[in-house]
Amino acid sequence: MTLMKSWVESANDANHPFPLNNLPYGVFSTAGTEERCGVAIGDMILDMAAAEEAGLVQIGDIAIFDVPYWNDLMDLGADAWAELRARLIALLSEGSDEKTLVEPHLIAMAHADLHMPFAVSEYTDFYAGKQHAQNMGSILRGSPDLPANWLHIPIGYNGRASSVVISGTAIHRPNGQRKAPDAEMPSFGPSMRLDIELEMGAIVGTGSEFGQPITVDQADDMIFGYVLLNDWSARDIQGWEYQPLGPFQGKAFGTSISPWIVTAAALETFRTSTPERTKELLPYLDGSKDGLYDIELEVLMQPEGIEEVTAISKTNYSRMYYSAAEQLCHHAIGGCAMNTGDLLGSGTISGPERAEYGSLLELSWAGREPFTLDTGETRSFIEDGDTLTLRGNARGDGFTIGFGDCTGKILPAVAWPAK
Ligand code: CA
Repeated sequence: MTLMKSWVESANDANHPFPLNNLPYGVFSTAGTEERCGVAIGDMILDMAAAEEAGLVQIGDIAIFDVPYWNDLMDLGADAWAELRARLIALLSEGSDEKTLVEPHLIAMAHADLHMPFAVSEYTDFYAGKQHAQNMGSILRGSPDLPANWLHIPIGYNGRASSVVISGTAIHRPNGQRKAPDAEMPSFGPSMRLDIELEMGAIVGTGSEFGQPITVDQADDMIFGYVLLNDWSARDIQGWEYQPLGPFQGKAFGTSISPWIVTAAALETFRTSTPERTKELLPYLDGSKDGLYDIELEVLMQPEGIEEVTAISKTNYSRMYYSAAEQLCHHAIGGCAMNTGDLLGSGTISGPERAEYGSLLELSWAGREPFTLDTGETRSFIEDGDTLTLRGNARGDGFTIGFGDCTGKILPAVAWPAK
């Protein structure tokens, strides 16, 4: 596929994240206006509430874009998703005879604030990157051997929808219980091993019935789109609490997502297969489509008061072992109902080389081998005032499908007890 040209000139740059091929969905406001749905095209946002009111776009029987979430469109199903995408392409394509009708509803992105693009129904996080799981084994248990179930099950845990926040939201270093290996008693205080996890988030568009299992192909059709996801992690709190049941407070203080939902339709041309299976999966986890996408990922770090930004990791979503569709199928296989707006974290994405690791725990090998920023400073874990940014781009022939930055700054821990 090549660049689809738009009459919005900025959208025709080969490196711009939001060409006509992309058309990602977000929620925005401008000074003194309400939050509403918008579509990114080049440096502009198409005000969907205004376009709907003007009769330029109508999907279904009632207005669905004058609200601060895209869940209503998701709930209408795949035919409605395709209908909207086709209509937007017709309106915004070079040579469209509706250009003069659409133009008044474009707003400069520079003048807009972005908000959560959808209402998160529930949040589940997986542990499905093989290199990451092997690294965790080496660091925490002294052996890269995977747990006995790892090559058979996309391992996950239920997180909290309330902890998912939009890019740009500052995160306080969490307080909690932690215990040094040689300490007799646990202590309470701010996490000293604060970390990120580089992940993709898959958004469930249409749900499944309670009690009814689904196939991988059905799961693939249910996925509406993807965002970048930073599953902030407090390693000292996590390490003390996670046995025998898994993460709880170590993960519950914040999960950041990028502001634009990049649709599965926009990513279709970037599909790529999951890696060769070390052990054959059980048949219920078989699907007919390539389940991953070729998306370049990058992690950037910027200490407070310093302009220079260091790329501390570069990898690719195709490094995952399990696809989002396999994870979604496994999630529902026992009868758990999946709902519109459910968010599935892929699990930390790490490639085979150190420079491709998707967490600071791996990059600094648990603090034993601190890494150096371009400014000369070293880091093992995140310090107060550091800003961490995830970036994602799928590169086509003369065009780019970008996600928009997923960024967050770490603030000092909140004093406890509160003063
Ligand atoms: Ca995670």
